[in-house]
Amino acid sequence: MIKINENYNKLQASYLFSDIAKRVTAHTEANPDQSIIRLGIGDVTRALPDACIKALHAAVDEMANDGSFHGYGPEQGYDFLREAIAKGDFQSRGADIEADEIFVSDGAKCDSGNFQEIFATDATVAIPDPVYPVYVDTNVMAGRTGEAKDGRYEGLVYLDATKENGFIPDLPKTPVDLIYLCFPNNPTGATATKAQLKAWIDYARDNKALILFDAAYEAFVQDDSLPRSIYEIEGSKEVAIEFRSFSKTAGFTGTRCAYTVVPKTCMAYTESGEKASVHALWNRRHTTKFNSVSYPVQRAAEAVFSPEGQAQVQELVSYYLKNAKYIREQMESLGYDCMGGENSPYIWIDAKGDSWELFDKLLNNTGVVCTPGAGFGKCGEGYIRISAFNSFENVQEAMSRIKDAL
Ligand SMILES: *Cc1c(COP(=O)(O)O)cnc(C)c1O
Repeated sequence: MIKINENYNKLQASYLFSDIAKRVTAHTEANPDQSIIRLGIGDVTRALPDACIKALHAAVDEMANDGSFHGYGPEQGYDFLREAIAKGDFQSRGADIEADEIFVSDGAKCDSGNFQEIFATDATVAIPDPVYPVYVDTNVMAGRTGEAKDGRYEGLVYLDATKENGFIPDLPKTPVDLIYLCFPNNPTGATATKAQLKAWIDYARDNKALILFDAAYEAFVQDDSLPRSIYEIEGSKEVAIEFRSFSKTAGFTGTRCAYTVVPKTCMAYTESGEKASVHALWNRRHTTKFNSVSYPVQRAAEAVFSPEGQAQVQELVSYYLKNAKYIREQMESLGYDCMGGENSPYIWIDAKGDSWELFDKLLNNTGVVCTPGAGFGKCGEGYIRISAFNSFENVQEAMSRIKDAL
């Protein structure tokens, strides 16, 4: 008899996006004349940068001839891309990361979900709340938690991100081994300063813990005093892994390319306390289970680092940030307390009551779809997330409807 992995039965069904879809459908049927403006989902809306399109086309043409065709590439990614990343994203910002510490993949979702596989099942895991749900669910699947009670899994250490701590969680009060952090944050839009990240690095060093740092939104950091990478912080190379993605920065959500940085100096420990290289473990896992990203897509990602690519990506990011600024200003002028929207495409808004109540009010009175914060964890209750991923025209229309209706 084939038995299931019982840990899957602990997973709480996430009704968030299906619930939203149901309410939107009901609203559309009742109000066929009102157009819907979606400021809910975390997907980009603008086309790929021209530099990436040109590189994609050229690479596709190479695949058309026996002489220039590419079959399997290196599992960790082609050197041309790993070198462009090391230079363009790290060395240029004073972070000493080498090309062979970069593992190219088809998504930061998979990487941030898979990375926990190389650690012990009894590792104590700390996860922020509210949070991108992948970190929690993959640890539940792996058997690192008990059952869910009142929306929280037994055995996980939750790091509350609240208005009181400026949405930057405090250090855990009980010892933990694996720590997930995400800045600029999804969903709160909060950014961490170098001093705040330094406190986490010091904690990890003192406790032989490891930080998994999700920097999917780093390109939205425009304030030069804020870190884009955890490797801008001293001491991080021994205790931090960083996830990056071309999804939100260069519009690759449907093209798929991302990467994970695993410094060779990062250590985990065997049962008997001996050091083990995290780089070697991840290399083993990655090369066993993954066959890298298609050649044309890696060429398109490489083009992000060309001078034209850099200018085009900055234009994309600035476009969404202009939307974000506008949303935040308008919501604040209506008396709502906001976080994010400055170095982040997300605005996290105090609903002054129930998340779903404000969601329904916005949908029913204006046709604007946001995301109720309760879907991201217990601490998200009482908030909504508005995303800047849409056209400026739609954002203006949405805000004008909200101003008239609220
Ligand atoms: C969108 C997003 C990612 C990126 O995922 P991909 O699989 O690379 O598209 C990673 N982390 C967070 C927090 C995100 O919001």
